[in-house]
Amino acid sequence: MLSIHSIKAQNTKKLLVIYTKETYLKSVKEDSNKALVLLKEYVPSIKLDIKYATSQNIFYQKLYSKAVAYIRLPVAKALAKVQEELKSKGLSLKIYDAYRPYSVTVQMFEMLPDTLYMGLPWTGSKHNRGIALDLTLVDLKTGKELKMPTPFDALVYASHPEFSLISDEAKENRELLKKVMKKYDFVVDPMEWWHFNYKSSTNFEILDLPFKTFE
Ligand SMILES: [Zn+2]
Repeated sequence: MLSIHSIKAQNTKKLLVIYTKETYLKSVKEDSNKALVLLKEYVPSIKLDIKYATSQNIFYQKLYSKAVAYIRLPVAKALAKVQEELKSKGLSLKIYDAYRPYSVTVQMFEMLPDTLYMGLPWTGSKHNRGIALDLTLVDLKTGKELKMPTPFDALVYASHPEFSLISDEAKENRELLKKVMKKYDFVVDPMEWWHFNYKSSTNFEILDLPFKTFE
């Protein structure tokens, strides 16, 4: 297991991380698409269940001070389209996690140093870049989650988005989620059916800024 010190040493060698509000604001001035926006403002009907703002997660502890979802502007716009399409099927997206400060990814890896499933401190997670989301589908009428292969953050084979030894119902729901997300430029993670990265040619920097920066 790497110590925080060695992670930081690797980090400074390889990663560009924005640590100050000033640098972030400068990047937004140069490219307005780099703004992190409150997802709820762009997709008011979207459901939130921010797991790391509670202790109901694999770390059994609260890692965020607030249950909010911030995401880069073009990602919010793409999610609005996904939500519109789902609405016609009587469904909605439910967000487990969106932008995650880089220091939280480091903290998570310290607690659970799994190189297969965890965001790696030496590369950073796409969550740190504000272009990744963890999400699922809910029924608009009941508000209940659709049956999926596993719960969120289950570190098992059944979490792989191509895993086939699951019920037909779970498979159908997972495939629907993948299909609609793909249509609007999201790519599913090869290990986690709930994690999607937004495809873009823009270099969205890794940020280590608290949520209040974007208020
Ligand atoms: Zn994720």
